[in-house]
Amino acid sequence: MLDPMDSHASPIPAAVIPPRRTRQARVRWAGRELTIGGDAPVRVQAMTNTDTVDAVATAIQVKELAQAGAELVRITVNTPEAAQAVPYVREQLDRMGVVVPLIGDFHYNGHRLLTDYPACAQALSKYRINPGNVGKGDKHDRQFAMMVEVAARLDKVVRIGVNWGSLDQELLASMMDANAARPEPWDAKAVMYEALVASALRSADDARALGLNPDNIVISCKVSGVQDLITVYRELHRRCDYALHLGLTEAGMGTKGTVASAAALAVLLQEGIGDTIRVSLTPQPGEARTQEVVVALEILQSLGLRSFNPSVTACPGCGRTTSETFQVLAKRIDDHLRAMMPAWRERYPGVENLKVAVMGCIVNGPGESKHADIGISLPGTGEAPAAPVFIDGAKAMTLRGDGIAEEFHRIVEGYIERRFGRQPAPLEGAVPHACVE
Ligand code: SF4
Repeated sequence: MLDPMDSHASPIPAAVIPPRRTRQARVRWAGRELTIGGDAPVRVQAMTNTDTVDAVATAIQVKELAQAGAELVRITVNTPEAAQAVPYVREQLDRMGVVVPLIGDFHYNGHRLLTDYPACAQALSKYRINPGNVGKGDKHDRQFAMMVEVAARLDKVVRIGVNWGSLDQELLASMMDANAARPEPWDAKAVMYEALVASALRSADDARALGLNPDNIVISCKVSGVQDLITVYRELHRRCDYALHLGLTEAGMGTKGTVASAAALAVLLQEGIGDTIRVSLTPQPGEARTQEVVVALEILQSLGLRSFNPSVTACPGCGRTTSETFQVLAKRIDDHLRAMMPAWRERYPGVENLKVAVMGCIVNGPGESKHADIGISLPGTGEAPAAPVFIDGAKAMTLRGDGIAEEFHRIVEGYIERRFGRQPAPLEGAVPHACVE
């Protein structure tokens, strides 16, 4: 008889994400600390689109982004009024119990704002500095130094955030000239890549020379093309050990922006490149700003890098399903689990690892359901009107009738309570039962 293992000399190796080897930045606020890089989990960032001058509206949006899962939130600091509002945003967040550090996004006048408004400089935990927007000619170095000196003195983290839409034009021009003098000039794109990387790394060198702790430097080089992003970040990863902030700039709206971001970030994250991510989605009219956070979490969870929410596996449906029952049930379960997560995180530690399957028929239903912690295989067209439920890989019951959805909902909640509910703490002085011999 044919041995099914005969053709394999060794097991098929599982895909492995190499460990990251970057420096670790420490973002601090109100006695708290969040690490980026090194062995820290890949962090999720987001950015507000409110006018920072409106401190209340900004604090509310920061809260929404944090509740959606953002671990750091960046706000625009573009005017003296915005700089004056920053401490109030921080204060509002502290009052609301929102535990998230604020990053200030500076362009053109950051040197003035950070030095003229020390309360702003203090309230922010991290500064984003774009070397392409720091000033031209001899002002560049002086203004860059003014910002870095504030960061060094206050022990703040700095992201040197290069963007090819605002790349240092003087640097690019000098590199183009040098390239033209080569015996065999590189193509323009290669020079652009080199200019992006050089702008970031030279600025990091300058910041270190000005006294900034190298661990407090995070680098980004954002571009809007997937292949360009992959190329540039592979090179950054090769040439430096700073924590890297990943993100496709101007990713776009809806499906296009989501897919482009996921495609670019997944390739890099799989190679162990990237310590913090932001998905720069343009919200569609009426769409919540938090969508960019939802996508970022999904990217990390899909790659198995982090767990944020229970996952619901649902089949796409096909000609074997003529009703929408399983789609409706899958969506209801997914929506419910997400809605409950803010409360459940505290109440049911580990619930984010739960796997639920909602399947449309017998073809893959029982198999997929058995792989989940809890799964249901709904009846397809022509199948008996019965839905087997699998718990921890074994068939536990069969649901019938009109109330299948409600019943399954209750079964999932009961499972969560049993598996992830905290055991009541033993009474003081009581001996845990297992220790009694
Ligand atoms: S599990 Fe059934 S309904 Fe779902 S896609 Fe597969 S064959 Fe179609």
